[in-house]
Amino acid sequence: MAKSTQAKPALLTVDDDPEVLRAVERDLRREYGDRFRVLRAESGATALEALKQLKLRNDPVALFLVDQRMPQMSGVEFLEEAMQLFPEAKRVLLTAYADTDAAIRAINNVKTDYYLLKPWDPPEERLYPVLNDLLDDWLSSFRPPFTGIRVIGSRWSPQSHQIKDFLARNQVPYQWMDIEADEEAHRLVEYAEPDGPHLPLVLLSDGSRLIQPSNGQIAEKIGLKTRAEKPFYDLVIVGGGPAGLAAAVYGASEGLSTVMIEKEAPGGQAGSSSRIENYLGFPVGLSGGDLARRAVTQARRFGVEILTPQEVKGVRVEDPYRIVQLADDSEINCHALLIATGVAWRKLDVPGLQELTGRGVYYGAAQAEALSCQGEEVYIVGGANSAGQAAMYFSKYARKVTMLVRGDSLTKSMSQYLIDQISAQDNIKVQVHSSVVEAKGENSLEAITIANTLTGEKETRPATSLFIFIGALPRTDWLDGVVERDKQGFILSGPELMRHRRPRGWNLDRDPFLLEASVPGIFVAGDVRYGSVKRVASGVGEGSIAIQFVHQYLSKVGG
Ligand SMILES: Cc1cc2nc3c(=O)[nH]c(=O)nc-3n(C[C@H](O)[C@H](O)[C@H](O)COP(=O)(O)OP(=O)(O)OC[C@H]3O[C@@H](n4cnc5c(N)ncnc54)[C@H](O)[C@@H]3O)c2cc1C
Repeated sequence: MAKSTQAKPALLTVDDDPEVLRAVERDLRREYGDRFRVLRAESGATALEALKQLKLRNDPVALFLVDQRMPQMSGVEFLEEAMQLFPEAKRVLLTAYADTDAAIRAINNVKTDYYLLKPWDPPEERLYPVLNDLLDDWLSSFRPPFTGIRVIGSRWSPQSHQIKDFLARNQVPYQWMDIEADEEAHRLVEYAEPDGPHLPLVLLSDGSRLIQPSNGQIAEKIGLKTRAEKPFYDLVIVGGGPAGLAAAVYGASEGLSTVMIEKEAPGGQAGSSSRIENYLGFPVGLSGGDLARRAVTQARRFGVEILTPQEVKGVRVEDPYRIVQLADDSEINCHALLIATGVAWRKLDVPGLQELTGRGVYYGAAQAEALSCQGEEVYIVGGANSAGQAAMYFSKYARKVTMLVRGDSLTKSMSQYLIDQISAQDNIKVQVHSSVVEAKGENSLEAITIANTLTGEKETRPATSLFIFIGALPRTDWLDGVVERDKQGFILSGPELMRHRRPRGWNLDRDPFLLEASVPGIFVAGDVRYGSVKRVASGVGEGSIAIQFVHQYLSKVGG
């Protein structure tokens, strides 16, 4: 992963006389080189360029030490501009005796902290005491700036949302800067893209930037891996949710060369859960992000290769190999394949929603957007556990959370512990017999129309944020014609395949194993499996059990 270490604060000295510049630099380095970066520039213009780069990297500047008499741009003129960029930095003018008046005027105009008369020898008497005092003062109020990734964009841009969601789900700390609400964001965009802004803009701690990047481009920058190291593995796992991660840990710990391919971020649906309270061994619950981070660390420790973001687009069977085709057209061969692709949010199909998705309308995404909803009213559609967890999470940030539930109560669809938490929370309102029938807005969501499911009566309310949690379906079209699925796309396995006879094309003289699909050597675990219990623990259980069958299969497979 890209390192984000805090750079030492800079001392910048500017002078057009190369000899004086060298002398100042030498003296500064000698006394402050261990704690500060000493930078120098021969003109105000070059110095301002350097400052813009420091600003884009979020590196701090502690002090300017600037000659007053410079052609093109005087010291005072330079400081006028520099203080826009680093208002907290201390300002010292270097002056000749004849410039004393200008220096004194500057104390008022650009609030210089000091003016030093040249020459400053010996520095121990005439330079360091002054600078020590100023630097002590600066350090006393210095708060180290954020050193990670900064994302600048519009809150209502779907691309901004996609980047924030990708970083959050991959556990990469970032700072969100809203171009509509943050002056600093404006300035940074101006420096980074003087020829016109293209947002979102991602600034990385090494000073590089990405304009309107794809998840793949960000992944490359932050050190995620999307290409497999080897052409062949004993086991390929598709999907990095709880089922895939458990299989990866068990597979690799038992000696199988294992690669796990995940199209968004390890953790799957569980990764988007703000608090899982029923997972064994965590009496106070844990967040899905935390579970994912721990599982990824464990998998890596056993040598699992994790490719993310990378999507599997198809599978070919050429016995004894299962050949996995990836979105970038590369292929990976394996003997055993485990499909653990889970389910994805079902879309709500009402007028206006599709156009506003990512612009105030979101599926899941509680964690990435919660901060932006500070002090606002948030609407949540759905009455199951995922909606309940989201409501609890948003209630910490939003002024009011309204849950729109089609049925007459939460009791049929939600666990009792969550119902209790919700009713104890003052700023959550549960509105039953209610469904969203329309969304309106120009650039972002402005209003929703809610229908009463009993009376049909409609009401339109102003709304800026709508989060939808209405169940999920598998996305397994890429397996069409490869393994047997039910009408909704859930994959059949083991006994489910054996209603009357062995599956068509099955060429072994044994029945499919418990978690084996209709092709020998292709296994399935977790929510994507037909008839599965849709829980974190059951996904983890199935992922681990599947490895037992993988071993049995591999012991017989020809190579
Ligand atoms: C908000 C929320 C809260 C929840 N809370 C709880 C709870 O408190 N307790 C509980 O027990 N359960 C909870 N659940 C349910 C639980 O998260 C799921 O049952 C569990 O995550 C299923 O795990 P899985 O590995 O089968 O699939 P998933 O978690 O769905 O993971 C599948 C992964 O496969 C990836 N993928 C899909 N297709 C491809 C492809 N073609 N190529 C590569 N990768 C692909 C997806 O990106 C995804 O990361 C919650 C679910 C949600 C959404």
